[in-house]
Amino acid sequence: MDKYLFPDVYVESILDLPLEKLYVLGIRAFILDLDNTVTEWNNREVREEVHLWAKKAKEEGFQACIASNNSRARVLAVAEELDIPFVHKARKPRRRAFYRAMAAMGSSPQETAVIGDQIFTDILGGNRMNLFTILVVPLHPREFFGTRIMRKLEKPVLRRIKEAIKRGEINSIFSD
Ligand SMILES: [Mg+2]
Repeated sequence: MDKYLFPDVYVESILDLPLEKLYVLGIRAFILDLDNTVTEWNNREVREEVHLWAKKAKEEGFQACIASNNSRARVLAVAEELDIPFVHKARKPRRRAFYRAMAAMGSSPQETAVIGDQIFTDILGGNRMNLFTILVVPLHPREFFGTRIMRKLEKPVLRRIKEAIKRGEINSIFSD
């Protein structure tokens, strides 16, 4: 089961992603979770650092597409601000949204990474599709009620992930 729940990489924030190293690995496209990955939950504001990150990623040859379980209006607002495509009501970890995001970017599974803060939606979904998976620490503790329940279920998995990082089985950041 852990095979499907463990990310390939665990970082504090999307801002910490080593883009050059991901590029060398062949990654060219990001399927981005929205709530608590790109913005705080249900907060429209995209922080300046995130704007700069998105710009830098684009310049370095990466595409991005938001895939969020949230509503159209909510996802559209942020996608427009970042000028990237989106899939709303994604129902992750189901596969359909991941296929649609890759279709929107024209990317293959081999060159696509999923980035998100939730193990049972983002990471499980990405692993089921055999995509590269990147877990980030949630931006803010304020969350949807259903998510708070999931966090309890995530706890023992996170503990095992941290043990795997110590054993060197997962990159916590790509160390040089
Ligand atoms: Mg999220």
